[in-house]
Amino acid sequence: MVPVFDGHNDVLLRLWGKKAGDPVAAFLNGDGEGHLDLPRMIKGGFAGGFFAIFVPSPQDEEFADDEDMNPPPAHDVGQLAALSSTVAMASLLFRIEEASQGRFSVCRSVADIRTAVAEGKIAAIFHIEGAEAIDAELKSLDVLHKAGLRSLGIVWSRDNVFASGVPFRFPSSPDTGPGLTEAGKALVRRCNELKIMIDVSHLNEKGFWDVARHSSAPLVATHSNAHALSASSRNLTDEQIRTIGKTGGMIGLNFANGFLRADGRWQSENGLDTMLRHLDHLMKLAGEDHVGLGSDFDGARIPSQIGDAAGLPRLAGAMKAHGYGEDLTRKLCSENWMRVLERTWGQ
Ligand code: ZN
Repeated sequence: MVPVFDGHNDVLLRLWGKKAGDPVAAFLNGDGEGHLDLPRMIKGGFAGGFFAIFVPSPQDEEFADDEDMNPPPAHDVGQLAALSSTVAMASLLFRIEEASQGRFSVCRSVADIRTAVAEGKIAAIFHIEGAEAIDAELKSLDVLHKAGLRSLGIVWSRDNVFASGVPFRFPSSPDTGPGLTEAGKALVRRCNELKIMIDVSHLNEKGFWDVARHSSAPLVATHSNAHALSASSRNLTDEQIRTIGKTGGMIGLNFANGFLRADGRWQSENGLDTMLRHLDHLMKLAGEDHVGLGSDFDGARIPSQIGDAAGLPRLAGAMKAHGYGEDLTRKLCSENWMRVLERTWGQ
């Protein structure tokens, strides 16, 4: 089985939102809901990945439950409310590690990840999607970094004090608003100093080019696809894809139907061939060392041929049948992520 290291999942949000039962036990024993829990990860060869903490606005209905390709803009979340929810989800991450009896490890370096994977543990990266929990003076960033934060998406698809996220629109260019604020540029500098990976997924195009200008790290889009094949505001233009490759960065293929399909529809079925077409396009422009997976498990509707984490071997099988070969399949499924993390975090 080809091991998978994945650029994005929302299992912490799913567990945090559970109405009943112990969310830690639900994850470790497997609750069969959504896409991810420990038994299904082990079954599918899911070796590790970025575990996102995302704070939804209480005013927003759950996203992507219908076919609305142009939903209303998301509501803001205040900093203190976001910080409180972020601490709650980070606590869940650490309690899973504590209760896992050595089966799950929160990793702070590539050496940590390699050790965890070699020992058969799930290697988790503490990632925040949307920097609402961080104050403009970046004080909470210091504390979150000390707690293990190693990756940060400046925005989700809404505006905050640092930048403007792309609203979900189809068809739409990702050029939907202004770039980074001064606080956003300071956030980029501080993340570079602390070696926190900066994620440009959900950022609008001006924000993307501001990060490209101000960041000293490789550019990374953890869960985004090719705009040329699916004209969502969430996807990357050819110029963005080429630039990510040139900086030694990384693009994680998002499994969400709405970001894969040429018609942008969420619920309609979608074959693995569409995913392979995006991988081909991303590799053609960025290079085969700069593309990987960013499933969006537990955050989106995905092809039923994969179904959930246990179905990952079907994607690896489709890659091989498509002619990628063993070495390239392994690079796409995990090894490219290790290289970009080494370049971003240091050895
Ligand atoms: Zn996302």
